[in-house]
Amino acid sequence: MRLTEQVHHDIQKVLRSGDIAIDATAGNGHDTLFLAQQVAPHGQVFAFDIQDTALEQTTQRIQQHQLNDVVHLHLASHADMAAYIPSDVHGAIRVVMFNLGYLPGTEHDIQTQATDTTQALEQAANILAVGGIISILAYTGHAGGREEADRVQTWVDAQSEHFDIRHIIPQNTRKSPPEYIYMQKTSITPMAIPHL
Ligand code: SAM
Repeated sequence: MRLTEQVHHDIQKVLRSGDIAIDATAGNGHDTLFLAQQVAPHGQVFAFDIQDTALEQTTQRIQQHQLNDVVHLHLASHADMAAYIPSDVHGAIRVVMFNLGYLPGTEHDIQTQATDTTQALEQAANILAVGGIISILAYTGHAGGREEADRVQTWVDAQSEHFDIRHIIPQNTRKSPPEYIYMQKTSITPMAIPHL
């Protein structure tokens, strides 16, 4: 099973119709569509990307599946995610997905950055429901990818008081394999959410 399929497989086990989920990196919209299909018709998905192209691709994909009513797209950094999520659902988010790196099929000049990613993870951790999941796919083969994965790892290591944490690093595949971290929230984190 590919790692992206493994992530979907794990998330499918916890996400139900009516739930609220976040795609922190919408990209081509595959993960946003997957989340929307799980929570439809009454759930909601909030999806973020900083590139117009990504939101156009995602919008197209969502429209093809007639899931517009379920998905809220934001052309904004995930570093500000909490400010875009209605405060009445803070603490009720079931899943937050991070698929780091660059938009496939484009130049690599726009890619996720460790400082924004860790800020976004911090907010995700705070607005997540107890029992909810954060999934992180970090790619280490491109310039900056290893550094970002290491900074994410440092942040993740500091969360063990409030999360059960699982690391999946494929063995015997390629030189710089992607890394998958699955975190399930076990208790409430101290809230310190910035507002725009
Ligand atoms: N989940 C996507 C999918 O299903 O196609 C793939 C995501 S792609 C690997 C990473 C995406 O993160 C890119 O589209 C990039 O523009 C976006 N990105 C980079 N920095 C970001 C930020 N600060 N906030 C939100 N998205 C960001």
